[in-house]
Amino acid sequence: MSPTKIIRGKIYEKAIKPGRFGFIFESEALRNQKLEDYRSFCSAMFFLSGFFGAALWVWDYVTDPLGSMNTIGLRAGYLFLILMVVAFKYVSRWRLLAFLSLLAILLAEVLFIVILNRLNTGMIYGIGGFMIFAFVPMLLLQAFPLFFNMIQAILVAGAPHMLAMLGYAPGFQHDHYAVLIWPTVSLMMLIYFADAYNYRLRYEIELALKHASLTDSMTGLNNRRYFEPLLKQEIARFSRLKHPVSLMMLDIDHFKKINDSYGHMTGDLVICQLADICRKAIREIDVVARLGGEEFAIMLPETSAVDAARVAERIRTTVEKTTVKSLAGAEFSFTVSIGVAESFPGDLSSDKLVTVADEALYQAKESGRNRVEIKTLEYKLE
Ligand code: GH3
Ligand code: MG
Ligand code: MG
Repeated sequence: MSPTKIIRGKIYEKAIKPGRFGFIFESEALRNQKLEDYRSFCSAMFFLSGFFGAALWVWDYVTDPLGSMNTIGLRAGYLFLILMVVAFKYVSRWRLLAFLSLLAILLAEVLFIVILNRLNTGMIYGIGGFMIFAFVPMLLLQAFPLFFNMIQAILVAGAPHMLAMLGYAPGFQHDHYAVLIWPTVSLMMLIYFADAYNYRLRYEIELALKHASLTDSMTGLNNRRYFEPLLKQEIARFSRLKHPVSLMMLDIDHFKKINDSYGHMTGDLVICQLADICRKAIREIDVVARLGGEEFAIMLPETSAVDAARVAERIRTTVEKTTVKSLAGAEFSFTVSIGVAESFPGDLSSDKLVTVADEALYQAKESGRNRVEIKTLEYKLE
């Protein structure tokens, strides 16, 4: 199995949540992403289709030069498709946009039937023209989910039958239309299917790569690349709200000795052990990361340094009581030093908060290790 397949399979079953029928029902996250990826593309396609619809007056002229004099205004009507550019700019939800797009395509089709009615033997020559309504939605509806495009294909192919039955398309030949359109639409559905499959594959791989680039593979925790920008963003957000954010820096004590005494692999076990303890000690809103080596950081939003220190103390005592079994079978325990800093009440930058938390950690090491030290902004100013 290829590495990407392993990562995709392992991590992204949950993230994608495709539902019972695989990618026919793409997850809401995928649908939203697809819309954002294709928003400007679809907008451009609608824009060009407006001109295309109008320019097809040439076709009217060739099939019926006289009748085509009555279709100029109707052909200009195709420029309404350009309005979809506005919709693609301002409508954020895919459902509404998809609905508007479908409506636009159906209106364009009705307009075509009206035009054919004005041409001499239009309905007979016009049969081939309906092919456009089988093909073009593929371009216009790139941004939308597969199931929607499938339904759209059936509706758009079925509409002329309906309108003819209601008497709006005199001379319409159902059989000619059917043998031309339905095989084409079936083929288009396969193309929609292939397109959705390719999109989903790309989406999963991108998601897997993104996840891999932001995760520490050994512990499964977030890595520095994930943590640093998040901390920056959260501190800016919380300082605007005048809420506190605390930062905890953790470093395993005398880790070199553990490596030297029990081997590097056992050292790795110790790092994973600390990762587990941290994960279990924090709340949902807290974020823990392995910054590198045996150094970890925890961001605690809406938490004062005093409260964060309580969490730190819990981690410290849990670590102290935990025994690790080396690969050779020797049981031993380890300790951790923790520095805590708080950004409240001011607009402390994340760099500064990291520096202060690092200073607190250094102080914990200096004061004998296996300790928690707090430094707050006020403390710094004294
Ligand atoms: P202190 O109490 O001052 O923190 O002492 P220390 O020995 O922990 O000091 P230091 O931070 O200098 O040592 C970190 C060691 O961690 C050095 C490096 O060889 C080891 N190390 C870094 N990354 C890994 C890793 O992924 N696995 C293992 N097993 N060791 C690592
Ligand atoms: Mg260190
Ligand atoms: Mg250390």
